[in-house]
Amino acid sequence: TDSSSPPVDLPKNYLLGGLLASEFDEQSCLSRFQSAIYRKISPHKPSSYLISRLREYEKLHKRCGPYTHSYNETLAKINSGKAIGSTDCKYVVWISFSGLGNRILTLASAFLYALLTNRVLLVDRGKDMVHLFCEPFPDKSWLLPTDFPLVNQLQRFDQNSPKCHGNMLKNNIINTSTDALPAYLYLHLAHDYGDHDKLFFCDEEQTVLAKVPWLVLKTDNYFVPSLFLMPSFDEELSKLFPDKETVFHHLGRYLFHPTNRVWGLITRYYQAYLAKADEKIGIQVRVFDVGKGPFPYIMDQILACTLKEKLLPEVDEKGSINSPPENQKLKAVLMTSLNSGYSEKLRNMYWEYPTVNGDLVGVYQPSHEEYQQTEKQLHNQKAWAEMYLLGMSDVLVTSSWSTFGYVAQGLGGLKPWILYKPENRTAPDPPCRRAMSMEPCFHAPPFYDCKAKTGIDTGALVRYVRHCEDMSWGLKVV
Ligand code: GDP
Repeated sequence: TDSSSPPVDLPKNYLLGGLLASEFDEQSCLSRFQSAIYRKISPHKPSSYLISRLREYEKLHKRCGPYTHSYNETLAKINSGKAIGSTDCKYVVWISFSGLGNRILTLASAFLYALLTNRVLLVDRGKDMVHLFCEPFPDKSWLLPTDFPLVNQLQRFDQNSPKCHGNMLKNNIINTSTDALPAYLYLHLAHDYGDHDKLFFCDEEQTVLAKVPWLVLKTDNYFVPSLFLMPSFDEELSKLFPDKETVFHHLGRYLFHPTNRVWGLITRYYQAYLAKADEKIGIQVRVFDVGKGPFPYIMDQILACTLKEKLLPEVDEKGSINSPPENQKLKAVLMTSLNSGYSEKLRNMYWEYPTVNGDLVGVYQPSHEEYQQTEKQLHNQKAWAEMYLLGMSDVLVTSSWSTFGYVAQGLGGLKPWILYKPENRTAPDPPCRRAMSMEPCFHAPPFYDCKAKTGIDTGALVRYVRHCEDMSWGLKVV
């Protein structure tokens, strides 16, 4: 389609205030064009600097993407083994790893790192990346070509791999003169990483990494908060995100567009169950305790939180109220969980008893998949649809520790009420608290002062990087 004249039936803000590039075909990815019909306009505008850097990135991606001259040339270095001199284009290869919420967060982190270091992001397709997301960049694919030389090794890289950056530092075998550096390094930033892997977050190491054409990255963590603590990135990050808590909000809306199949799951559900409500309340229930739910203490906690914070109305169990007052509101609760028990209980409660203020409450749960099935295609398509739907709520309640919930809050631009993690199978008191910001939590941050070479509390260094509400050792941008 002609990029200068968008089709008339598209919402005015469909490019999200310039965040999205205009040169895309509508039919190939409906969500990119239609999201603005369903989601409220974000009160957070992307900075003009972020917009210009994204357009620059798109040019870089077009010039360096799969099978371009520069790509082919840089690829040849892998076969030759050595970095040898500088290359025109440099790359970050993201390895598909862990649950879908984790993957969405790590992909956003990897993209931000690519943006900060002028690298091109290429995405390992794993089992189902192509069925979940549209291409985010115009012209050139973000997918790692299937004939990439290391493609069969990606899933096998670990902390002990010979080309693992941390491993090489540990064994003191990294020669930092440009000519001696390898053509690729593997960066192990998964939750079980060691002290040497963590040196990734030191400026000194970044200077070395900058010379390596291919960086292959595996992580299950949203590592953005620690990038904010690095002097070499700090200033650029402030320019990109003057409003610091909007990093994932903007990058997520920029990168993650559901495929038409997933968009169908989202829009059909929204129109059938949520569109007519005066208020939409999302409740994401993720239970990490072992055993088969539903657990009574979790139900107690959900009720305690939503009623105490007045997100949902109380019911009159004596049933003395029966004439509906004026201004009766229709509230739709979208509940997501692997288990159907919590929403059944809530739905029954609002059917069996009237609410004290007369409001009507409908409770809906799209799926109950019982257990995590990361390898199944429709399973992850539903999980993606549910994260997106939660992000369309007016008010959101999430579970501690869950990246599934972080994705919903970030895409939705919502500060959720977080249900504290239950200890010893009892409902915590207080049951929940409001999040400080809509940013995700980095669950396994380093606690290291690169200059002084000692341990340090990285959650107490600056005002805008704090320990998380739901995990005391985690870090988040606020
Ligand atoms: P986290 O484990 O909560 O941080 O979230 P992840 O998304 O990384 O991994 C959990 C996985 O379990 C999801 O990707 C889904 O496959 C599945 N899952 C967990 N909760 C739900 C849910 O409420 N709905 C659906 N459809 N799937 C879920």
